[in-house]
Amino acid sequence: MTDKVIIVTGGSRGIGAATAILAAKAGYAVVVNYAANAEAAAAVVAEIEATGGRAVAVAGDVGVEADVMAIFAAADRLGTLAVLVNNAGVVDLPSSVADMSEARLERMFRINVIGSFLCAREAINRMALSKGGKGGAIVNLTSAAAKLGGPGQFVDYAASKGAIDTFTVGLAKEVVGEGIRVTAVRPGIIETDIHVSGGTPDRVAEMTPNLPMKRPGTAEEVAKAILWLASPEASYSTGAILDVSGGRAILP
Ligand code: NAP
Repeated sequence: MTDKVIIVTGGSRGIGAATAILAAKAGYAVVVNYAANAEAAAAVVAEIEATGGRAVAVAGDVGVEADVMAIFAAADRLGTLAVLVNNAGVVDLPSSVADMSEARLERMFRINVIGSFLCAREAINRMALSKGGKGGAIVNLTSAAAKLGGPGQFVDYAASKGAIDTFTVGLAKEVVGEGIRVTAVRPGIIETDIHVSGGTPDRVAEMTPNLPMKRPGTAEEVAKAILWLASPEASYSTGAILDVSGGRAILP
């Protein structure tokens, strides 16, 4: 049993996978949650174990309460939960709001928003000083889309990330006395599979000339920010949202 357990939701690919691997290097025992891609999750676990780290892959949809309970039960078997990274998130095919179905909206908000709430609830119940916990850190994943709005393409996704911004600030205030810091990372355009699953495989290439740094970010660059916010190095940061966007949605 270790007192340094981290849960990374959506840890099988992209930003989550980079975070899981970096977390293991920092000495965390890692719960690598995934939705469906068992092979990708197993590859992350294998990479961690190959360098002497400790990790378990746990299937589960963060939008389903029973699955969330199973993810946290897996963490309990490793030791004391120190960090939750609410990373799992989805986009959908480009659409105007006028054409969005109820099913699409329910999926978007269930995974991106309710999933983050359910995972935070379970983390708080383990970390809170008043519940016998040792404190901890929760890092949420928002998006530059929360500032930009995603018109004509994914206002639903952008709004779900706007909810995460507010969730981060509100929860930080709510649990500051419980030894729990709550922060968020706000990525810009990052090279991951999410653009393929959102039906825009060329999005990164098309956006690149318009990005302030003329390049997309990498999953590792976002992971480093997540791990810093999770670490004792960030001991005086709570309620903070750190832009990792190469200046997107910040610079003119
Ligand atoms: P990604 O490459 O598409 O990977 C998504 C990960 O989330 C996968 O591990 C996937 O598991 C998992 N996942 C999907 N739905 C899930 C669910 N219901 N329950 C549990 N896990 C689930 O995504 P990414 O680009 O790394 O994005 C990670 C986070 O950063 C998201 O919250 C996203 O909104 C945010 N973000 C990304 C960008 C960007 O440009 N990439 C920009 C801003 C914000 P499987 O492998 O099993 O499918």
